[in-house]
Amino acid sequence: MSRGHLVVISAPSGAGKTTICRRLQTSHPEWRFSVSATTRPRRPNETNGEDYTFLTEEQFDAYISAGELVEWEWIYGHRYGTLHSTLVEALEGGEALLLDVDVKGGVRVKGRFPEDTTAIFIDPPSMETLIERLKKRGTESPETLKKRLDRIPEELAYKKDYDHIVVNDDLDRAVNEIETIIMEVQ
Ligand code: ADP
Ligand code: 5GP
Repeated sequence: MSRGHLVVISAPSGAGKTTICRRLQTSHPEWRFSVSATTRPRRPNETNGEDYTFLTEEQFDAYISAGELVEWEWIYGHRYGTLHSTLVEALEGGEALLLDVDVKGGVRVKGRFPEDTTAIFIDPPSMETLIERLKKRGTESPETLKKRLDRIPEELAYKKDYDHIVVNDDLDRAVNEIETIIMEVQ
């Protein structure tokens, strides 16, 4: 069996990562999605164990102490981390694994598994569109919206470390472009 592949997908909040990853999962059920652990509260449309494994602060501490996370970050006041076991299982099982992680996490995964990782950065068509999409999504309070917007310049600075930059202007077009990239590296 050939070795699997890790596909990191990162973007500023609101650029369309979740939407794109859901579309990819529907059209390619054979591609797995890395379920991260987080201390962020669950949103109404999210399922524990499918979107994230939602943990208390104490549970997250225990994951860190047990060395279960290949990387983890504080993002917008909460912790998010990738399980080492998920990556190893996908690589050894010959699967393509999609990771929706922030820019620092993406760079860290690539650093740990350089030969096995393709990193894709999703770029918003413009700053105005990004802000508009984030507001329209309606999931953020004024405080959490500000935290997300404040982080954008730092996130954009990591674009150069990514293998591919895909502009999420038209959703179908962006999804097609990403599908092509993944099929080529698999
Ligand atoms: P992220 O996961 O990167 O924070 P989302 O996938 O939640 O972003 O997308 C933010 C909002 O923008 C959602 O309401 C989504 O429906 C919308 N959206 C995503 N991609 C597009 C697109 N290409 N055109 C218009 N709206 C989009
Ligand atoms: P959200 O709260 O919108 O679901 O996600 C916030 C940010 O956390 C997004 O940029 C998302 O990619 C990132 N994220 C999700 N899981 C992980 C993870 O396991 N590690 C890291 N570093 N970032 C993650």
